[in-house]
Amino acid sequence: MFAPIMPKTGQRSLSPAGIILTVIAIALATLGQPVLGQQGHSPATHSATPATGAVNSNAEDWVMAAIRPELQESVRAAMPANLPVYEMSATLEPQAETGDVPTLTGHLKLTYVNTTDAPLDSLPFRLYANGPDDENDAQIVSDVTVDGGAVDVTLSVSDSVLDVLFNQPLDVGDLVVIDMEFASFLPIDSVDHYGIFGYGSTSGTWALAHWYPVIAGRDPSGGWMLEHPSRNGDAIFSDTALYDVTIHSEQGWELATTGIEFGETDAAGPGMVERRFASGPVRDFTIVADQDFEVATADVNGITVNSWFNPGQDRVGEAVLEYAIQSLEFFDDLLAPYPFRELDLMPVDMQGAAGSEFPGLIYMGLDYYTGNTDLATPNSLDFTVAHEVVHQWFYGLVGNNQYADAFIDEGITNYLSAQVYFEEVYGDDEAERIMNVHIRSPFERIIDGDGDVVVDTPTDEFDSGRDYVFAAYTKAPLGFEAIRLEIGDDAFFGALRDYVDEFSFLVAEPADLLAAFEASSGQDLQSLWDEWFNETNGRDALD
Ligand SMILES: [Zn+2]
Repeated sequence: MFAPIMPKTGQRSLSPAGIILTVIAIALATLGQPVLGQQGHSPATHSATPATGAVNSNAEDWVMAAIRPELQESVRAAMPANLPVYEMSATLEPQAETGDVPTLTGHLKLTYVNTTDAPLDSLPFRLYANGPDDENDAQIVSDVTVDGGAVDVTLSVSDSVLDVLFNQPLDVGDLVVIDMEFASFLPIDSVDHYGIFGYGSTSGTWALAHWYPVIAGRDPSGGWMLEHPSRNGDAIFSDTALYDVTIHSEQGWELATTGIEFGETDAAGPGMVERRFASGPVRDFTIVADQDFEVATADVNGITVNSWFNPGQDRVGEAVLEYAIQSLEFFDDLLAPYPFRELDLMPVDMQGAAGSEFPGLIYMGLDYYTGNTDLATPNSLDFTVAHEVVHQWFYGLVGNNQYADAFIDEGITNYLSAQVYFEEVYGDDEAERIMNVHIRSPFERIIDGDGDVVVDTPTDEFDSGRDYVFAAYTKAPLGFEAIRLEIGDDAFFGALRDYVDEFSFLVAEPADLLAAFEASSGQDLQSLWDEWFNETNGRDALD
């Protein structure tokens, strides 16, 4: 994510309390579905088809449809075995029969192999949309079955954790098919989670992050992440999976998603469009929908880059495209080939935040498009686009626990986009200007003011959101700069390439990145690492 550039615009009016709860009640009555907690007794309405054998041996063409043709062989080889497969079918209901709130209803069929090292009594899903509001659920689930049989479920952590309880333990290596119905009710102009999930009334845009039940992210050392969705940082932490998604909408809607559109039919009925999308191996599947989006498109090394914008906002839309081309071209060469055939950049009202990253899809703060954004070189819009593009490698390809160690993806991303991108594209002087404005000056101002913080701190354990931003976006990049200066460019960028190569589609830990720097340089970097990321040395760290 990228929160710090623009000032928060303050609380906007939320949808009236009670509406969502009413909607849920009506929805359940309409659908004839049992309320949560009684699901275990509901009949299985969807026949599951238990698959056999390894999921990844699935040779169906959709699995690699989103991958650049020349990279399909290497991606298939690098993909972990037995990735979860999400097959989803969902409908956008702008004027849902259930009420005024824009609604998305759908069915999830998940094929899951126990790739942990112990039998599982249950599988935890995250309903992140429920995190912000303890009273009202924005997401409900019903009719949960495992291999076609009814099972019990439990809800916890503000209803943001849904545990699907197995009738018998799932042994290591065994496969189950989990089916469930879900409905997601979009908050209107929500400030929660920086507006990543909701309906933006200014532009009529549906921003659909965490719109479906997703398996909880799993940290290699800490296990399932079941904490309350982060308030300061990224709400979503999830693991790589394969997605085959069919979306029904009324005609005339533009849809941009993770992955690639795989087929379009009118099978959904009169006035409706059915579109199928395939993702390849990604750690999330995000959608943005709007009725009047326009798009500027370019090709970069065979990758289609789409910069979407609302009517009349082509000045910024075209600039976003230009910056995305520059940064994608550069990092595709510097780090590792971007494996996907498409990258979408979308204006979303993020309530003052600058941008947010999802696989193959980037949210850009709507304020950039509606304001008198400065496009002179160097500028903040360019920096934000580059930041979100770099996340396609650090977050997208290589995951890390964004709750526990946000500085890994945010720190590396901010350093590469502020310093390395600008020095390559615009030269050292422009890079220095961007670094001074966005990183060095804020660092010195805060060190001299509020004081230092330990960078490697869980996002919601900082004393304030500002401390989190300082740690992840300001101090951490300077720590990575210190490592670059210590070991030199060859070892620094070689380490990043090795790290991406070794941990693509996985979740890495901070020690893995440190080990990559040490292996490429042959130096012991523990004390330098600690000085920046685990200690508070104030200005002394700069010496
Ligand atoms: Zn970020």
